[in-house]
Parts: sequence; structure tokens; C-alpha cells
Amino acid sequence: MSLPGFIETYRDLIATPSISSTDTAWDQSNQAVITKLASWFETAGFAVEVSAIPGLVGKYNMVATLGEGEGGLLLAGHTDTVPFDEGQWSKDPFKLTEEGDRLYGLGTIDMKGFFAFILEAVKDLDLSRIDKPLRILATADEETTMAGARDIASRQHIKPDYAVIGEPTGLVPVFMHKGHMSEAIRITGRSGHSSDPSKGLNAIEVMHKVLAELLKVQQVFKDKYNNPHFEVPSPTLNFGHIHGGDSPNRICGCCELHIDMRPIPGVSTNELFMTLKTALAEIDKAYPGAIDIFHLHEPIPAYSCSESSALIQTAEQLSGNKAEAVNYCTEAPFIQQLGCDTIVMGPGHIGQAHQPDEYLDLSFVKPTSDLLSSLIKRFCLGPIT
Ligand SMILES: [Zn+2]
Repeated sequence: MSLPGFIETYRDLIATPSISSTDTAWDQSNQAVITKLASWFETAGFAVEVSAIPGLVGKYNMVATLGEGEGGLLLAGHTDTVPFDEGQWSKDPFKLTEEGDRLYGLGTIDMKGFFAFILEAVKDLDLSRIDKPLRILATADEETTMAGARDIASRQHIKPDYAVIGEPTGLVPVFMHKGHMSEAIRITGRSGHSSDPSKGLNAIEVMHKVLAELLKVQQVFKDKYNNPHFEVPSPTLNFGHIHGGDSPNRICGCCELHIDMRPIPGVSTNELFMTLKTALAEIDKAYPGAIDIFHLHEPIPAYSCSESSALIQTAEQLSGNKAEAVNYCTEAPFIQQLGCDTIVMGPGHIGQAHQPDEYLDLSFVKPTSDLLSSLIKRFCLGPIT
């Protein structure tokens, strides 16, 4: 069997739906994409391992390895896409459409297309020169829980020296981003007739006190932390959703607030969570058992890679772009837990991701192919003998 051409690979990946969503009506298995990748990388000479994500049905990771031992380079990406806005696409999201200078389709830049680039880059490799292993990681559920990347981090069975995650950064090396936490604060009071407030505990009134404390936390974040790489240099706390009560003539029995917090590198998700708990400790004491604080999803830590890393220097030199910090989250904080210097860098612009008519600008094709070939040569191949 021989490998399909670049456009055929791209077309096949886009035509294989792999939506992940916290909404079960949208959520799909990524098995079909993983099976295709596994077969192509095997054909290209890689040893392939497919693993099921514990506790999830129909979700898989793939690690493909060329060469022996530890170290070397990991090229990583996620196999899932976000759902698409029905009726808002002018093209079929699952049909690769070449039009003008663009390739349209769901996942063209975020980010199934990255695997087509990798397969193209390994075609021309002189396998006899492999000195350090080249590994390809394809993960599940990046767009929802990052379960695939979390599983790879917890297994610790591969130890690359360097990792590149091919998210759409416009081929700018990204070396830093904030983390993300979604937290709920639920006040459980006691409902009753509104004519006598003393007969109940009004959850909205308790929440009012909570909000006052959290406004102070916002200021604490600003005063205490500062990372000038970010446009917003401190961790943030955003009030995103609040709901309480049902009727004007009842004492409100329950009120729930959802916030998000975005830690900066060097500030753990636990530190921010403890700041939250400490801020509410006095109210908790005053109303025992009334306050619950819990994660709406597992926190994603912030991430940064040392600016002196050979990976960043190489990526800057090859791409001609200076490394920068970004506002969105990726799998980098989990991949980094494998002990490797990690950057995010891939074709396409983030502004075109998660949008109707997602596309890859064809001007990225040659620079991306050249970049991947050069990275592999630099970190995996020995000298020509
Ligand atoms: Zn992505």
C-alpha cells in the first residue's frame, strides 16, 4: 500500500466527522479518524499504538513512533473538531472544497489538516538517518475536556525532548498562554413566604455578600500578579452567569453563580481556587453548610516554555516569527508534563477557527511543509553518512 497524496489525505480527514461536544446530541467518536491515521502512519513505517481513553466510550489517542529510544521530537494535534453552525456554512463542512486560494472544511486548520502536513513531511525522510525518535500524537476531546491530552500526561510512557502542537497560530511560535477554570458557587438557603423574611434564609442576600468578596478578589489578582507578556497581565475573574429564585413572593431558596478564572504561568489553578475559598470563608462560617464551591470542568493550567529553549530558537529562526503569548488555551500544559519543551505552532489563523467556512489559506502550504521537514531534520535525524 502506498500513501495517498496531500490533498487526498486532507480530503479524507475532513470527510470523516469527529465532533466533540459536551452536548451528547453533537458528540461523536473519533475512532474513524484515529483508524485512518494509524493505517497511514503504519504505511509510512511508524510503530503505532492506539489507546482507548479510560471512562469514555469511542474516544481514542494514537501515538506513532519512528526510531528507537527516548527523546526526540513529538508532533501533536487533536483529532476532534467543534460542532458547526448549521445553515451558516456556505459549503459542506465535511467536504474539502478548493476555491480560490483556500481549502474549506471543518477541521482544515483546527486541526485535522495538520496530520496531512505531517504525513507529507515524512514521505521524503531518509529513514536510515533517524537518530532520535519522531513521534506523532493524535488526541481525543481537546475541544471539550482535553481528556486525550490529560491521559497521555498521566501515562508518562513517552519522553520526548521537544513537542510542537500544530494549532493554527499563523506559524508564529507560541510559548505561553493562560489557563482556564470554570467554577460554580451555589448558595442553598431556606425558602419561605416573603411576608416574613426571618422564616427563611435568602440565598440571593447571601450571594450579594459573596459577590462583594469576589469583587475584592478581582482587585487582589490585579495587585498581586503581573505578567507583561499578556495584554491583560494578571489572572482574571469573570462573572458569567447567575440564577436565583423563582418568584417575588418567596424567600429565595437557591442561587447559583458561575465564574471563570484565567491563571497566568507560575500561578497554579489550585492557588486561585484556594484564594476563592479563603475569600468566602467568613461567609461560610456565618452560614454553615449554605455555600458549595465546585468545578464546572476540570481546570486547565497555564503554560509557558523557557524562552531560552533550543526549540523556541529553532522555531523562531525557521518561521521568521518571534515567539509570543496568546489568550486561548491548548493542550500544551498537559503535553509539557511529559518533560518536554513545548510550543504551539501551526498553519492557519486562530480567527478562522470555530467559525463557519473554516479554511486554510493555501499560502501556508509550502512554509508549513518546509518548517516540519526542517524541525524533523534538526531534532531527529543524524548527519548524512
Ligand atoms: Zn484546536
